[in-house]
Amino acid sequence: MKSILIIIPAYNEEKNILPVYTALKKVFAPLENKYSFEMLFVNDGSKDNTIGEIEKLANTDKIVKYIDFSRNFGKEVATTAGINSCKADACIMIDADLQHPVELIGEFISRWEKGFDVVIGIRNKSKSDGWMKKVGSKLFYSIINKIAEVKVVPNATDFRLIDRVVVAEFGRFTETSRMTRALIDWLGFRRDFVYFDANERLHGTASYSFLKLVGLAMNSFVSLSLVPLKIAGYLGIIITLIAGLSGFYILLGKYFFHTVLASTFSDSENLAILLLFLVGILLMSIGLLALYVANIHREVINRPIYVIRKKNI
Ligand code: UDP
Ligand code: MG
Repeated sequence: MKSILIIIPAYNEEKNILPVYTALKKVFAPLENKYSFEMLFVNDGSKDNTIGEIEKLANTDKIVKYIDFSRNFGKEVATTAGINSCKADACIMIDADLQHPVELIGEFISRWEKGFDVVIGIRNKSKSDGWMKKVGSKLFYSIINKIAEVKVVPNATDFRLIDRVVVAEFGRFTETSRMTRALIDWLGFRRDFVYFDANERLHGTASYSFLKLVGLAMNSFVSLSLVPLKIAGYLGIIITLIAGLSGFYILLGKYFFHTVLASTFSDSENLAILLLFLVGILLMSIGLLALYVANIHREVINRPIYVIRKKNI
């Protein structure tokens, strides 16, 4: 019998734990003669009683496993911990708020049985998304797909199944700042897609604010692409060329052809323009370099990716 692990990252989801558990049990029931299921809750340093709810379930049902982080490490790290503890033949990641329709788990499994190593849930566009999130995600995908080494499928979510071979390869990533789905995309393998409509969050509020999402996007740009670093260089070349040419033009006008090429700017204005240009380039380059240096710094000190307080898997 093949085994399947459902990974559920949870941050302040005390009211959702029981509903998720019940919904999953219902989905497992017709499949239980062919597969053995376990659910692994990763409590990501919740401030509410999420861990209490999980432990209650774990005490009564042995298919409930958990990892309890010592503090909040973020969803990407929580899913990472889940994948890294997976010994099953495949694992499926779902959100704890039931936004991912768990009824599709059977469909994910049948695609996997057809030979796909990665089955990715693609979220159909939702009316409830604010325009900021819509424009932001459109912008994000168009930029990342122009500059990143791997193609990122628009609206692909973390709702996905990965085979044990992918799990094993995933364990080789050591970076601390990470986007789980981008890393899975980077790995490649045979991939298939399942389209779904996201449900409304069951209880509580989404903890990913717009700013957090922008931070995640910036992080992906920096960790998946070197183009921003190069832009500073190209910009430097272009601006320096323009400044150089205008400088040359001003010089020519001043000393050789002042009748035809007389500049309308005074000397000090010319100088100011030049300086502004150069300072602009410098600042931009330094800003970008700082991003990369920060990234290198984070990776070089090689801290543990997460810290577990307690677990039963
Ligand atoms: N989550 C987490 N750590 C965090 C934030 C969120 O484990 O720091 C979990 C959360 O409990 C949920 C999933 O990640 O299961 C998605 O989070 P949320 O619903 O807040 O985000 P959205 O629906 O906007 O993607
Ligand atoms: Mg949600």
